[in-house]
Amino acid sequence: MREFGYQRAYDVSGAVALLDGDWEARFLGGGTNLVDLMKTGVERPALLVDVRELPLDRVEPTGDGGLRIGATVTNSDLAAHPEVRLRYPALAQAVLAGASGQLRNMATVGGNLLQRTRCGYFADVASACNKRNPGSGCPAITGEHHNHAILGASDHCVATHPSDMGVALAAFDAVVSYETADGPGELPLADFYLPVGETPHLETALPPGALITGVTLPPAPVAANSRYRKVRERASYAFAIGSIAAALDVEDGVVRDVRLAFGAVASRPWRARTAERALLGAPADAENFTAAADAELAQAEPLTHNGYKVTLMRNLVVAGLSELAEEATR
Ligand SMILES: Cc1cc2nc3c(=O)[nH]c(=O)nc-3n(C[C@H](O)[C@H](O)[C@H](O)COP(=O)(O)OP(=O)(O)OC[C@H]3O[C@@H](n4cnc5c(N)ncnc54)[C@H](O)[C@@H]3O)c2cc1C
Ligand code: SF4
Repeated sequence: MREFGYQRAYDVSGAVALLDGDWEARFLGGGTNLVDLMKTGVERPALLVDVRELPLDRVEPTGDGGLRIGATVTNSDLAAHPEVRLRYPALAQAVLAGASGQLRNMATVGGNLLQRTRCGYFADVASACNKRNPGSGCPAITGEHHNHAILGASDHCVATHPSDMGVALAAFDAVVSYETADGPGELPLADFYLPVGETPHLETALPPGALITGVTLPPAPVAANSRYRKVRERASYAFAIGSIAAALDVEDGVVRDVRLAFGAVASRPWRARTAERALLGAPADAENFTAAADAELAQAEPLTHNGYKVTLMRNLVVAGLSELAEEATR
């Protein structure tokens, strides 16, 4: 591991000033992803600016009925928060479906959003990888890709985003707040992750040196009837091979509001807007849930060894929405 400096920041402007202009410095949240990548040489920062003592560790209701989540709230505290469990249960379930208790105690909201892909070639510095080393190639396309993307990928990268939390945040239209030396800014989650295109190394629309300060969830009454469903190769302590965050409001048997986002199938949490449009105003039954899933998955471009994800995602959508529809009519 390369030698590195360490500084702890106690206020937001101090943290931003410490990082400003230093392209070899990184913010340190829980360190559960960054430090691993430093050990393997994928990341080689000269300076770590620890943000865990910043006053960004609260979950607070907003005046309009939403929630504001600070960037240094730990995954454990987020999942346990009573307002999250009551008003956005899929978010609490998504967080609890990730990692282990010990990791969730360390991992932060800001770090979770910026965690890197679990593509094995990305993690191996001896391998080519366009994301790690632009222009070097993408061995995953003809190699090991059974857990890679089926949606929104490109000829340059087929990696998936690993965050469970991000999938629920995408379903509920979260907005990411950040601070830079030039002042604060906001990015809706839908615009936060850049399309993979020809530049897979450029992952987010955050300005250079930006500190994530928090995430705001707008009010969403439908979110109170929501679920996170995750399929993984082991029963626990494993990343998803497919997941959904779903929320459903049904009146007189008809879909009045619906939210649907997919995980582990694209380079970012994938909001399933085509499926949502197909469902609004339609009878809440398995036939329509299947048709909506198929409409979304018509965009899928599976590789040789990950076509199973199309069926897996269809089944997840139908099972998840059927469960929510049953509960909505109880
Ligand atoms: C064994 C294992 C299993 C896991 N399983 C899952 C899983 O199933 N599902 C899942 O979703 N995740 C899983 N994770 C990933 C884990 O959730 C992430 O490592 C964690 O969320 C990252 O948060 P952190 O605070 O530790 O980030 P760090 O490792 O500290 O940082 C990650 C990145 O974010 C940047 N950063 C951190 N905070 C800020 C900020 N406020 N502003 C700007 N940049 C910032 C850092 O510079 C770095 O680039 C697993 C991790 C491990 C090690
Ligand atoms: S899929 Fe993306 S991260 Fe994986 S090897 Fe290809 S370019 Fe690198």
